[in-house]
Amino acid sequence: MLELRPNCECCDCDLPPDSTDARICSFECTFCRSCTEGVLGGRCPNCGGELVARPRRPVEKLATYPPSVERIFKREGCAKPPW
Ligand SMILES: [Zn+2]
Ligand SMILES: [Zn+2]
Repeated sequence: MLELRPNCECCDCDLPPDSTDARICSFECTFCRSCTEGVLGGRCPNCGGELVARPRRPVEKLATYPPSVERIFKREGCAKPPW
């Protein structure tokens, strides 16, 4: 099951479970759309994998399957990855 992390690792903006701006890699590194399309160039800076739109969990499922509340944030921010 997806963790549905609450924020972008690069800029720490909020990415609620119903956000259409959330992007994830296969490891669920989570970023916002503007970081993904901007500095990251569509690829995860941690693993090099592609970043795709995170599916939204139906609202009625969130009570039973709540999203993660652990914020993962790179304090140094995101530089353009080496690839
Ligand atoms: Zn961001
Ligand atoms: Zn990744």
